[in-house]
Amino acid sequence: MARQPKIYPIVIYGDPVLDTYAAPITKFDAELKQLTEDMFASMYAAHGVGLAAPQIGISKQLAVIDITFKEDPKSKIVLCNPEIIKKEGKQSGGEGCLSVPDFRENLTRAKKVTVRAQDVEGKWFELTGEDLLARAILHETDHLHGKLYISHLSALKRDLIKRKIKKLQKAGDWVYVPPAEKE
Ligand SMILES: [Zn+2]
Repeated sequence: MARQPKIYPIVIYGDPVLDTYAAPITKFDAELKQLTEDMFASMYAAHGVGLAAPQIGISKQLAVIDITFKEDPKSKIVLCNPEIIKKEGKQSGGEGCLSVPDFRENLTRAKKVTVRAQDVEGKWFELTGEDLLARAILHETDHLHGKLYISHLSALKRDLIKRKIKKLQKAGDWVYVPPAEKE
C-alpha cells in the first residue's frame, strides 16, 4: 500500500527558519525521497508552484517546483543544494510567496537562469528555465539561502509590507490558513 504523504503547514514570515541559510543535503536516502513527496503534497495543498524545505520548518537545501501545478507530471522538479550558475535578461512581473500570504509585488528578475543541483539520488544536473520557471528557480534558491523575495524590493516597499505584517501580528491575524479552510 502506498504511503500517504504528510501535509505540512506553511511557516510564515517572522519565523527565524526563513532567515537561516539552510544546511546542505548530504544523505540521499529513502527519508529524503519521502520528504520530497511530502513537499510536493504540501505545496499542492497550499496551492503553490514552488516550495522550499525551510517553508515547512526544515532547514535543508531542498526545494520542489511544478509551474504547471499537476498538469504535467514531467514538469516536477526537485532541487537539492542548488546553485545559480547563469542569469540572462530581465523580466518584470508579479511575485508572491506562500510564507508571505496575501501579498504580491512586482519584481524584476532574470528572464533565463541556469541552475546546477543534485536530484534525489544525489546526481548533479543542470537545468535552464525561462520566464515563470526562471522566477521559481530564483525564488526557491533564495529561500535556501535565508532570503525572501521582499528582500529584493525597495526599502520603502519592504518596510510598508513589514509594517502591515506587524499590525496583523499584533491583532493575532498573522497565521497560516490553508486554502482548503479559506474556501
Ligand atoms: Zn516563497
